[in-house]
Amino acid sequence: MIDLASDVKTRPTAAMREAMANAEVGDEQAFEDPTVNALCERSARLLGKEAALFAPSGAMCNQLAIATWCRPGDEVICEHTAHIAVYEAGGPAANAGVMMHAIHGERGQFTAAQLRASFRAKWRHCPQPTLACVEQTANLGGGSVWPLAQLNEVAALAHEHGLRTHMDGARLLNACAATGISARDYAAGYDSVWIDFSKGLGAPIGACLAGSREFIERAWVIKQRLGGAMRQAGIVAAGALYALDHHVERLVEDHARASRLAAGLAALPGVLLDAASVQTNIVFFELDVAGLGFDAHEFSRRLAVLGVRIGAFDDRTLRAVTHLDVSAADIERCLEAAAAVLATRAG
Ligand SMILES: *Cc1c(COP(=O)(O)O)cnc(C)c1O
Repeated sequence: MIDLASDVKTRPTAAMREAMANAEVGDEQAFEDPTVNALCERSARLLGKEAALFAPSGAMCNQLAIATWCRPGDEVICEHTAHIAVYEAGGPAANAGVMMHAIHGERGQFTAAQLRASFRAKWRHCPQPTLACVEQTANLGGGSVWPLAQLNEVAALAHEHGLRTHMDGARLLNACAATGISARDYAAGYDSVWIDFSKGLGAPIGACLAGSREFIERAWVIKQRLGGAMRQAGIVAAGALYALDHHVERLVEDHARASRLAAGLAALPGVLLDAASVQTNIVFFELDVAGLGFDAHEFSRRLAVLGVRIGAFDDRTLRAVTHLDVSAADIERCLEAAAAVLATRAG
């Protein structure tokens, strides 16, 4: 099966498993795990922050940041397709008691002007925002890359109005691979930022959240509270360190494969896709459902029979994601399978 459903589908390579098996370990929550400590130091440096903590998942990093920066009743501003708003099981409300205020931006991004327009009147009837969140790259924005200037303008305006800023950097390193801009530069205006090791970097588990030393100390309390304090977590941190050493530079290959996939799909009858919009490893496309006589779910099922997995988002829309376990040859096979399914169109 060629699995393009998500970049979380990667499996640790033999070399990564060996690094994990040989990891030096200790009690993570007592800061005695040398491998976790090394990963946190390295992540903090990479992201240009004073300190970092290791968490089991990226979603926990988002939840820790929101709960650290906000008090119940505060507003958290994000784009309306943000992972924080749509895929974290209501975590911001349940864990931090905050209100989400979603901006309808474009491709998962909003501008400083839109942020300004989202501010409510400063009187006690209105909830007030204390945190602005961005997602680099924007997942449901089609893996779109926020321009650095736009990130900086949003952060500057947020700070001017007393808000904290948080960057969901699940795929921040994909943005870096696409533009050559460093992670620390992208994150410079953000008080907290995290990267995921279990997406395109190919590690099985884990993410690092970074910020000031004081922020990380406060976030650690929430991590403890949520049951995120661990023991010999160096076993998994070793996979993340291995990924930083070996799987960052190759992200450009995933992007080239996504571009090839997009160009190939766009050329097929019944596919609606602007291939030029693909900037990183995510390819959203639509089907001309009326013309084809079947919908995206059926397309996905028929493709799976031919050994290719691409998930349907709704009746018309599908998402394909390239990653470590998808080769250039796999992309060609995927295009052949897609062409075969589309050739069976009604009429
Ligand atoms: C996957 C993802 C997350 C959550 O990360 P997990 O490690 O799966 O918990 C958060 N934000 C974005 C944009 C993501 O794509």
